[in-house]
Amino acid sequence: MEPASGVTRRLVERLSKAKTLAVLTGAGVSQESGVPTFRGEEGLWRQHRAEELATWQAFETDPKLVWSWYDYRRQVVSDSEPNPAHAAIAELEKGYPHFSLITQNTDGLHERAGSTALVELHGSIWRARCTAEQTVHDLPESPLTQIPPLCPDCGSLLRPDVVWYGEPLPMDAYERSHEIASSCDAMLVVGTSAVVHPAASLPLVAKHMGAFVVEVNPAYTPISALVDATLLGKAGDIMQELAAGVLEAVEAAGGTAPDTVSNSASA
Ligand code: NAD
Repeated sequence: MEPASGVTRRLVERLSKAKTLAVLTGAGVSQESGVPTFRGEEGLWRQHRAEELATWQAFETDPKLVWSWYDYRRQVVSDSEPNPAHAAIAELEKGYPHFSLITQNTDGLHERAGSTALVELHGSIWRARCTAEQTVHDLPESPLTQIPPLCPDCGSLLRPDVVWYGEPLPMDAYERSHEIASSCDAMLVVGTSAVVHPAASLPLVAKHMGAFVVEVNPAYTPISALVDATLLGKAGDIMQELAAGVLEAVEAAGGTAPDTVSNSASA
């Protein structure tokens, strides 16, 4: 009988044969740490929707309001711990000679879980950027003692070093993620609604280039019909089961994934 999680032996074997594994994560991967996603009721803060606050226009109009929201989110993350999904992804990194993690998250929880091969597509809430000189500064203190914070070098307003709605992605992070999606043998897409572009197009690039693409999400998304398998459920449960199975299969095959991979199998 097939397991309820959808983590079948065939799927595990297929993933374990990938030489190059990519993982793309979104806000859903941090949901079980208590960090709210943007969509749905829990994404509201003082009756403001994230889409209204995470914009340059909102910041220009009321930097104090926007920084107060970031200060709140930074405190939520400070009080949170990486969850089993973050841990499983960090474990997977050790099993593959070529592994990359692309995250849309800005919370730093992957790094805290031990992931190192990391591309942060949307920046980090733990850094700030000078609005005058574009210099980037670490901003670890939480809660902030000054809102809005000012540049330690020139005194200008700092902004969070994140990508807001309507802004382009940092070119180097986007190019790197596109390169990863184009060349991976398999991709896991975990906890993303797959509606925020251009990140949402990365699984489609991977699929187009012949990769085996598996989605992990409690709900179907716009890419569900296009990927090889959708594992319906919470990232914590599914990623633990998947990583344990895949790492066992990799180990059984001699410790690392093989040099060649066939894309003919399907889940
Ligand atoms: P989203 O809020 O649009 O979607 C979250 C997705 O996670 C949904 O598809 C939902 O079904 C799924 N989900 C919810 N609980 C889950 C769980 N336990 N396990 C697995 N999946 C679960 O998030 P998004 O698509 O990543 O895009 C919104 C943007 O907001 C991102 O670009 C990101 O930069 C930003 N964001 C970041 C954080 C963070 O850093 N933790 C939090 C909220 C939003």
